[in-house]
Amino acid sequence: MNRGRILIVSGPSGSGKSSVINYLLAELENAVLSVSTTSRKIRDREIDGVDYNFVTREEFIKLIKEDKFLEYEEVHGNLYGSRRDLIEDALEFGKLLIFDVDTRGMASIKKFFPDVTVTVFITTPSRDILEERLIKRGTENKDSIKKRLVNAVEEMKALSNFDYFVVNDNLEKAKADVFQIAKLTEYKPSKSLTSALIEIWAL
Ligand code: ADP
Ligand code: 5GP
Repeated sequence: MNRGRILIVSGPSGSGKSSVINYLLAELENAVLSVSTTSRKIRDREIDGVDYNFVTREEFIKLIKEDKFLEYEEVHGNLYGSRRDLIEDALEFGKLLIFDVDTRGMASIKKFFPDVTVTVFITTPSRDILEERLIKRGTENKDSIKKRLVNAVEEMKALSNFDYFVVNDNLEKAKADVFQIAKLTEYKPSKSLTSALIEIWAL
């Protein structure tokens, strides 16, 4: 029986997902990150096993064949996936499991866990500001930034599939907004809660 809850944060690369999620992980005692596996190269400030589990493309494909992923997608030319075992463990322990996945990943996870999942889409006030932030972050080359800006428009098309939408103009405000949304996961009437209540009410 799953006791945990899920918060999915999606949005264009550079929209502020990591900044907001790191805040939630620091502020919410019960929150854990669903650490994705990726074939992308590790960035300077990233830590293997903390930000992602970094593997080669060949290793990733082997994990797909072994059916280790609940979902996986190719994003910006790299493979990213959410491991089944890590998700099941976190939910079993009643955690608030936070995902940073693309919009297709969101749809897959929501399909698996509709009764415990809340979704939020984050973006910047404009495309130019997104570009500015990606340049300033200094982690991507020109080609990668171009690809991420093109994909940003595709991601925006899925906006109406989300429960909530936050424009990250001021980071402190965006953190507070997503914090409030994260708290709403506690009010989802999950299947396990419903069964437990019915058992009590039926006595
Ligand atoms: P994502 O995880 O969505 O790719 P990040 O959290 O890495 O995005 O944010 C992209 C960059 O923008 C980072 O350098 C971050 O420090 C910066 N940033 C985030 N929010 C704001 C904001 N409101 N104003 C200015 N810079 C921001
Ligand atoms: P980045 O390379 O900037 O860390 O992430 C690129 C994109 O991959 C982001 O949109 C992020 O949300 C997405 N992503 C990261 N992990 C996963 C995952 O496990 N599954 C899916 N579907 N997308 C992911």
